[in-house]
Amino acid sequence: MNDSNITTGGCLCGAIRFEANGRSLWQSICYCESCCRSAGAPLIAWACFDKSNVKFIKGETTRFQSSPGVYRGFCGSCGTTLTYGREPRDNQEDLNARPDEIFISISTFDDPEEFPPEEHIRYVERVSWLQIDDNLPKHKGFSAAHRFRQHQKSSCK
Ligand SMILES: [Zn+2]
Ligand SMILES: [Zn+2]
Repeated sequence: MNDSNITTGGCLCGAIRFEANGRSLWQSICYCESCCRSAGAPLIAWACFDKSNVKFIKGETTRFQSSPGVYRGFCGSCGTTLTYGREPRDNQEDLNARPDEIFISISTFDDPEEFPPEEHIRYVERVSWLQIDDNLPKHKGFSAAHRFRQHQKSSCK
């Protein structure tokens, strides 16, 4: 976690660069199918920020809607997974929406050490050959710390 300074990051090819200002709200490693498939990896580590603290200074992400209201941002040139956002669905009240927040893949920061994960979420969904032997909490679904505020059952699909 990082206090009131700028951290930078970007995609593999350099077409997209961003700056995040200040503290992340939380950091989690997710093992759900959508995260894994979109990252092409057995897990993805997310740091959540207030959207107002994140600025794209070069290029912009291509967005893929993986579920209603859920947008995953990636580089259209090199395919790097960069962001996740949960916006209100069209024309309906949506208590799961988090329009003021953006998740950034920790591995896209120039110094991923700045954002050590605090927990594992949806850990039971991981592939069986992957065992994580750290002391962080391992949640079956989301944790309170993950702050899917109103609905613990929401999914990050
Ligand atoms: Zn790229
Ligand atoms: Zn996930």
